[in-house]
Amino acid sequence: DAAPTATTVRTTCAYCGVGCGVLATPREDGSVAIAGDPEHPANFGRLCSKGSALGETLQLEGRLLHPAHNGARTDWDTALDLVARRFSETIAAHGPDSVAFYVSGQLLTEDYYVANKLMKGFIGSANIDTNSRLCMASSVAGHRRAFGSDTVPGTYEDLECADLVVIVGSNLAWCHPVIHQRLVAAKARRPDMRVVVIDPRRTMTADFADLHLPIAGDGDVALFAGLLRHLDAVGAVDERYVAAHTGGLVDALGAAEALDVARVAADTGLDPAAIRRFYELFAATDRTVTVYSQGVNQSTSGTDKVNAIVNCHLATGRIGRPGAGPFSVTGQPNAMGGREVGGMANMLAAHLSIEDAAHRELVRRFWKAPAVAARPGLKAVEMFRAVADGRIRAIWIAGTNPVVSMPDADAVAKALSACPFVVVSDVVARTDTLKYAQVALPAAAWGEKDGTVTNSERRISRQRSFLPLPGEAKPDWWMVCEVARRMGFGAAFAYAGPGEIFDEHARLSGFENAGTRDFDIAGLAGLGEAGYDGLAPTQWPQPAGPGRPGPRPDTRFFAAGGFFHADRRARFVPTPVAARPKTRPAPDACSESGAAERQGRLVLNTGRVRDHWHTMTRTGLSARLSAHIAEPFLEIHPGDAARLSLAEADLARVASPYGDALLRVLVSDRQRPGTVFAPMHWTGETAAKGRIDAVVAPRTDPVSGQPGLKATDVEVTRF
Ligand code: SF4
Repeated sequence: DAAPTATTVRTTCAYCGVGCGVLATPREDGSVAIAGDPEHPANFGRLCSKGSALGETLQLEGRLLHPAHNGARTDWDTALDLVARRFSETIAAHGPDSVAFYVSGQLLTEDYYVANKLMKGFIGSANIDTNSRLCMASSVAGHRRAFGSDTVPGTYEDLECADLVVIVGSNLAWCHPVIHQRLVAAKARRPDMRVVVIDPRRTMTADFADLHLPIAGDGDVALFAGLLRHLDAVGAVDERYVAAHTGGLVDALGAAEALDVARVAADTGLDPAAIRRFYELFAATDRTVTVYSQGVNQSTSGTDKVNAIVNCHLATGRIGRPGAGPFSVTGQPNAMGGREVGGMANMLAAHLSIEDAAHRELVRRFWKAPAVAARPGLKAVEMFRAVADGRIRAIWIAGTNPVVSMPDADAVAKALSACPFVVVSDVVARTDTLKYAQVALPAAAWGEKDGTVTNSERRISRQRSFLPLPGEAKPDWWMVCEVARRMGFGAAFAYAGPGEIFDEHARLSGFENAGTRDFDIAGLAGLGEAGYDGLAPTQWPQPAGPGRPGPRPDTRFFAAGGFFHADRRARFVPTPVAARPKTRPAPDACSESGAAERQGRLVLNTGRVRDHWHTMTRTGLSARLSAHIAEPFLEIHPGDAARLSLAEADLARVASPYGDALLRVLVSDRQRPGTVFAPMHWTGETAAKGRIDAVVAPRTDPVSGQPGLKATDVEVTRF
């Protein structure tokens, strides 16, 4: 019953950064049939469990359907007037940096674009950050250091035609399932393909690997810096490529000098023979892709991890060629689109740099903006600290639930409870964050809103509406523009619809851009309403010129060098291991643990499960998805469980100096000794003591500002 009909709408999945094409067919009984879009180049008709259950999550139960002020229903004019007035008064009294937007990778590119334009061009502050800070900020920072731009060079096809795929810090099988399906199919076609998984946990992805390296948390810098040293030692460096297109190899090698296999083994807790096997495979395999995700990014050394990986690809010239390259895959459906419009506190629109005076001036002229922010704004963790200490006095939180998802989440709740003015726009009526909102604004949900998203391989796809807006729900872009108008900036925010916003976004990307910047979709400007409505999935760059819009032959980055530093060369970034936090003990050391371990001290890793998404506002509505894992859990190695007198299905208390949680014990030898794992999906609304980010330390990477969500020292006791 999911076969396309005359009423079928082509759209894009609401969940992960794979960005699968979906065919949605509304039925007469009000339900919606869902199928994979066989023509979408991300998935060719495949969907995972979450995507295929989208039709089960469209009911209006629990939706926020009307604006509210202090919990009482109000009308849009009253709510928007109040938001505009309180923001304007706060800015007048305390300056532009006293207000902030905290937005989301769930927003569409058009929503993100106008929010960023209002804050950075018209309010004159860069205090707009996003939950993408928790997702891939370290990749952004690593790319900018290495390439001079935030460019993801990889594509899904590269994974399929590689001879070696190295998967680092990613449970691809659960978190990017359709990429995993494509990889499994490619390996079935070409059994000689080798897959290495580097992950402290033996995940479903590791089960499929030829070699699993159960690395100690945050051991990745040592492993890849050691690999760089090995590549040099065995003559695997592509001297011609390095000389023509890069700089800084000598310094990077200098930083890796001490990292022989014995030292890497000591720092990573890995078997030296397994390290050698990985190094030899990498050195010998020309077509190698290294794909990585949150195990790399969500770390206090996340940016160095990214650069340690990129260094190995630059050294071997394995970048910008089919089947070769480093490849960061994003968590959220539109983390990439948010990056494109400058939705992070340290970026400007169109991948321009807020630190660059010429870029600020370019954006000012294009927007005819009165007050372009002169310096980077506060990144997520620091932003909520500023709310706590009164530097930020008005905040608008859009499409995200930081009281659940931020590290030290109780401190975020406390900060919001003391903040003079909190606005929350969301699709659901009850969230842990909405409790602190003076103004609640009902947002359009997936299936109701229109716009674009960009997936992990730089492919822009349309999300199209196929359902009417329920109650008084409105698209996020509309709310932002209405507030901007009421703040006196109406002329710059007078868009008839998302198509006009996209058109401006595309024109800005080509404005005074003579091929000197990576992000260029000027070829997608001037599409008109019909062209925007019919826009096929399109990979950027799409510069203006003949043959637009549509796939162009020049969408492969770095094919012949051509990086985006001023000298067009890539940079090796030294990643000294001595500067890293002390790595975790090896498994044997843990099982022979000392006093700290006997007292129940373990290292907490957090992440996702297969069938839930973020805080379950949508996936929690599907009985089928909820049946996979019904409650929050704590995965623990049998040795640690025995030592702490914990049995399967016991309740365990997990505590840190920041907070605690109560979780069901799951004993599993898939867990690395000395560590525990807990999922991040459960909220105060769905499991009173299952909110794991209340336990997580708010430590951040010094370059990217991304929190290290995967390594908090905790005490675990039987409840
Ligand atoms: Fe949706 Fe990601 Fe699953 Fe594709 S892989 S259907 S984008 S959740």
